[in-house]
Amino acid sequence: MSRPLPPGSTIGIVGGGQLGRMLAMCAHRFGYRVAVLTGGGKDTPAGRVAEIEISTAFDDDTGVERFVAESDVITWEFENIDVALAEVARRADVGVHPSGDIIALAQDRGREKLALTDAGAPVAPWRSARTLDELRAAVDSLSVPVIAKAARFGYDGKGQVRIDRHDDVAPAWEQLGGQRLVVESVVPFVRELSVIVARDANETMVDHGVMENHHEHHVLDTTVVPAAIPDTRRAEAIEVARRIAEAWRLVGVLAVEMFDTGSELIVNEVAPRPHNSGHCTIEAAPASQFEQQLRAICGLPLGDGACRPAAMVQLLGDLWTEGEPDWSGALGHRPVHLHLYGKSEARPGRKMGHLTCVGDDPTEALQQAIDARVALSGR
Ligand code: AMP
Repeated sequence: MSRPLPPGSTIGIVGGGQLGRMLAMCAHRFGYRVAVLTGGGKDTPAGRVAEIEISTAFDDDTGVERFVAESDVITWEFENIDVALAEVARRADVGVHPSGDIIALAQDRGREKLALTDAGAPVAPWRSARTLDELRAAVDSLSVPVIAKAARFGYDGKGQVRIDRHDDVAPAWEQLGGQRLVVESVVPFVRELSVIVARDANETMVDHGVMENHHEHHVLDTTVVPAAIPDTRRAEAIEVARRIAEAWRLVGVLAVEMFDTGSELIVNEVAPRPHNSGHCTIEAAPASQFEQQLRAICGLPLGDGACRPAAMVQLLGDLWTEGEPDWSGALGHRPVHLHLYGKSEARPGRKMGHLTCVGDDPTEALQQAIDARVALSGR
């Protein structure tokens, strides 16, 4: 393996969101500088804590050239973008981890499912549909209920419609608007899990165990680690994530979201970057998911990812509807860690921050985090 990137080098982060912000903060701890390509935003969560914020579109030639010129290595905090910049980086001999090929894969649900199947990871029965007739045929062959999802650039339930009856097909097509779709069977899951695994160029892999996630309106609301599942299921979930990282020859961090039906695991989707469900690793593990990403892309040995019991609750913009949340109420008397992402405008549904509690018992940690969130709204 090549020599590790020395402190003082610049980490280029594609995307200006909170994942980039937490990575940038970690990079500073390691003595690195940070350049962020925001995609257009100014004063972004990541840009606010970086030495350089480049506020151009992801496909703006001048912005991309400058970003590549500033960076000693490039990584992603967001995968739903044009990956042409990976080619610009290759010409400039700047390393990109994970590779542009993996990013391209992860931004297309159809390609992702094919690559998951190739890797030996189980996915729900699915079909591709490019026309209304193909959507009808897909629904007929899978049987309702199904979920139709925009094949490209979907996240947090955006660009998704559930189809419960044949009469729902035409309205669903109308709503999703004539784009290529991935249609998949609704999985009757008993819980949602995720595994975050880091892999370095020496092919070493380290995970953080298995997280158990609860979503509200398709957005992650709470995470608990370790998930309350039998050890055999835990080992299986970790094995699935490692198998994918290995098959894709990933360098960086891979988050794998899975449905547990009680009898089997089905992979829902993957993200080749740190993940919302891994936020609690900042306090729960010696090396967080951000530190692992940094170590992997800089050629440093991976750290210890083992998590103490912990829980994370998301803070959405809705908490601001009645004015400033009661920070003292939440922080005053509870063992709670506060993370705010530095977003100036709190809109309903917008991820503004999160709270983490670490304890001996994950259920207790979750209750403490939930109580702290309740205290924020003064109710
Ligand atoms: P996604 O954007 O694909 O991560 O979906 C967001 C959430 O929608 C998931 O976390 C699940 O709660 C739900 N969901 C998505 N796909 C399915 C499916 N095939 N079966 C059941 N629930 C699903």
